[in-house]
Amino acid sequence: MHIDEPAFVLELSREEIEWIKEVYGRLGSQGCDINLFTYYDSVDFLKDLYELPIKAIGLDFVNGKKNLAGIKKHDFPEEKTLIAGVVDGRNIWRTDISKTIGLLQELSRHTEKLVISNACPLCHLPVTLKLEQLDRKLLERIAFAEERLVELKLIAQIYEGNKREVEKEEEFIIDFGVNPKVRERIKKLKDEDFKKFVPYAERLKKQKKILNLAVFPTTTIGSFPQTKEIRSKRAEFKTGKIAEEKYASFIREKITNLIRFQEDLGLDVLVHGEFERTDMVEFFAQKLNGIATTKDGWIVSYGTRVYRPPIIYGDVSRSNSMTLEEISFAQSLTKKPVKGMMTGPVTIIAWSFVRNDIPIYEVSYQIALCLQDEIKDYEREDIKIVQIDEPAFREKAPIKKRNWNEYFGWAVKSFNLASQSKPETQIHTHMCYSEFGEIIEHILKMDFDVITIEASRSKGGVINSFQDVGFKRQIGLGVWDIHSPTIPDIRDMMEIVEKALKVFPKENFWINPDCGLKTRGWEETKAALRNLVELAKRLREEIRDGTG
Ligand code: GLN
Ligand code: ZN
Repeated sequence: MHIDEPAFVLELSREEIEWIKEVYGRLGSQGCDINLFTYYDSVDFLKDLYELPIKAIGLDFVNGKKNLAGIKKHDFPEEKTLIAGVVDGRNIWRTDISKTIGLLQELSRHTEKLVISNACPLCHLPVTLKLEQLDRKLLERIAFAEERLVELKLIAQIYEGNKREVEKEEEFIIDFGVNPKVRERIKKLKDEDFKKFVPYAERLKKQKKILNLAVFPTTTIGSFPQTKEIRSKRAEFKTGKIAEEKYASFIREKITNLIRFQEDLGLDVLVHGEFERTDMVEFFAQKLNGIATTKDGWIVSYGTRVYRPPIIYGDVSRSNSMTLEEISFAQSLTKKPVKGMMTGPVTIIAWSFVRNDIPIYEVSYQIALCLQDEIKDYEREDIKIVQIDEPAFREKAPIKKRNWNEYFGWAVKSFNLASQSKPETQIHTHMCYSEFGEIIEHILKMDFDVITIEASRSKGGVINSFQDVGFKRQIGLGVWDIHSPTIPDIRDMMEIVEKALKVFPKENFWINPDCGLKTRGWEETKAALRNLVELAKRLREEIRDGTG
């Protein structure tokens, strides 16, 4: 029997470990051989794990670097089989075969029963490289699921002496994707490059003067319905059926309509709608140097949703502005402020395959600098508000909490580096989850002016987390749960606002949906946004009448 226990790599308490022993004690007495697989990190309680009545133990030697030290420290039980996970199931870089052979030789000193396997399930990888037309130099360096299995077989053959090790070919070419200018810029970064010198309170004054927004400003998170029409136009453009200019003018028409639509509704801070974007990460990946995108490298994100993670293989740089054309076109159509929209460095990293030949924070700073340059372009075109989306900020946190400080250290710095801007430019960030308690101290270190987050499903928790830390900046708690097709009525939304206003001063409160509207239909979008604007109107009236 194969049992997956990725949870065994968590930082478990003594009590939890005792439960595991108890449960496996019972399972083991059923007379069925158990092959137990742990993965994604190392196991902290190897000694106890050895004692479980199981036949084989699977350990991840790719992402669980400490497993090897554990094996050396606590002798592996003679009667058990060690299933060594040696090819990466989460990232795509080819396995270093000779290093792996070395690892296996080392492991064989601790056990005679050695089996090799993938280090974790291969569902995090696309199926095959066969369909891809990537640069040859890149193709030679990567492996998807099918290629991982080939690697496994090769490792076994070489280990058993049935095949000779192949000479390292060009596959480890190190200069591929190197950009000395980018390297230089990263090297020159100093502590002050990660800090804003005008504190929030002063920025607020400047921004207020420029933006002159009503209390309870209304806005949306960025995307508007990605209809069939938009997707098929994009497909026509991609397959060369329509010319670039035609596609661009189609997008401009959509933006024009959306600006009118938002003005008619009476929203305060407008967006351009993200019609030109396939996916918030892939779109930027296609604009940036040093990142490749695939044709068919689909993987499942959750449920039935799939996406194609880009491949960050080289130094990341920006040749031209990536989003300015659409944003400034949108701004040219209205006197209301239009938000510049970008995906943050941590989210780009979290939803891509990332090179591992340089530290991950360096990759992140490289992307952050590209975004910082983009903001400078915005500022030249008089864009006054910028939103940096970081929906994956929490998700990218390591499994073991003891590694959190290191992660959040560079994650926060990346955001602060990306968002370096004039004090007059209002920086928003957006995250879409509702558990902030554990990470709130890190969120506080991100120097944004406004945060918009999900709250419509779990009102209380979010509010408490921000209350506990005495949050002083502006916040938009999503009052419309866009994951549901239900149109929120004013009363439901008012309930959330009333709860929130017990904690946040009304001057700091924004009214917005809890995420982008790209998966919603136009009918519900219209109806819900109408209610949302009406809600703000009522709140303002209450203040005017002195009832608020
Ligand atoms: N700006 C993005 C959108 O509206 C944000 C998406 C997200 O948070 N996942 O689609
Ligand atoms: Zn979101």
